[in-house]
Amino acid sequence: MPRVLITGAAGFLGSHLCDRFIAEGMEVLGMDNLITGNMDNLEHLMGHPKFIFYNNDISDYVHVPGKLNYILHFASPASPIDYLKIPIQTLKVSSLGTHNLLGLAMQKKSRILVASTSEVYGDPLVHPQTEEYYGNVNPVGPRGVYDEAKRFMEAMTMAYHTYHGLETRIGRIFNTYGPRMRLNDGRVLPAFIGQALRGEDLTIFGDGSQTRSFCYVDDLIEGIYRLLLSDHVDPVNIGNPHEITISDFAEEIIKLTGTQQKVVYKPLPVNDPMQRQPDISKAKSILDWEPKVVRAKGLERTYTWFKSLPEERLYRKEHRDFTDFSRRN
Ligand code: UDP
Repeated sequence: MPRVLITGAAGFLGSHLCDRFIAEGMEVLGMDNLITGNMDNLEHLMGHPKFIFYNNDISDYVHVPGKLNYILHFASPASPIDYLKIPIQTLKVSSLGTHNLLGLAMQKKSRILVASTSEVYGDPLVHPQTEEYYGNVNPVGPRGVYDEAKRFMEAMTMAYHTYHGLETRIGRIFNTYGPRMRLNDGRVLPAFIGQALRGEDLTIFGDGSQTRSFCYVDDLIEGIYRLLLSDHVDPVNIGNPHEITISDFAEEIIKLTGTQQKVVYKPLPVNDPMQRQPDISKAKSILDWEPKVVRAKGLERTYTWFKSLPEERLYRKEHRDFTDFSRRN
């Protein structure tokens, strides 16, 4: 039975990956330090004979007993609010953490897939973004800690491939949504749905003309699974090219939830990308993959999940007290 290590296992994407690999008949070792991850996402797997959980910070050290066929590196804070609160951990997990995992992959002779991001393109001057575009990133802006760490992660991963011959894969993930997103992490979809459920106005940052392209989680997981099993070493964009302005997105959420609230405008965060849309030609041709879930369907499923949460979750901060971690910067 193949064994797979998934870092960031208690997070939104990590927990969905755990489900997928177990469904594929593999043994899953899930690892997370629970700074932003939440054990609620893994509750249904606790006690499962094919699942083991390790509470561990991969930036410090990583060791697991036994063989490992695959490693999927999905540990990292992934919301702008988190980067501001825990900038140094954000830098460390994609640099030191990646280095530790690459070493582990060498030792175990595993194939490793790292979760990169559309943020490597920064506030892009090329639209839509192809894998060939080098990006427009401000290294010292608020997003720099995430963007530059992910860029370093890609460089380090590629170096292990070219120098050591390690089997590596790099997925560049664009905005993804679905059940198990953290309700209060500041991302636009949980922000809007949370506001609708609490009876608050929806906060649009800037004038709402900035665009994003949202991919439903099941599609994303399928793309990642195919990329892992492919023989493609260069980065591949995984996302949904269906682009929408944030204003139109707010309207969709208002319709979906039936909220009587209005939209209010807040300042646009520094270095907030004005447009984002993946060019997925490469994924289409190499992985024979493209998203299948249309936004109306995906949003409905996501809203149904958010509505099913106990009411106290609507008001919960959903992350640990970061001061515990800041001492260990
Ligand atoms: N955004 C917004 N209102 C919110 C939260 C976010 O208008 O309450 C905007 C944000 O400024 C950005 C877009 O929605 O332009 C997507 O933000 P998110 O944090 O979800 O992801 P990212 O900027 O990393 O794509």
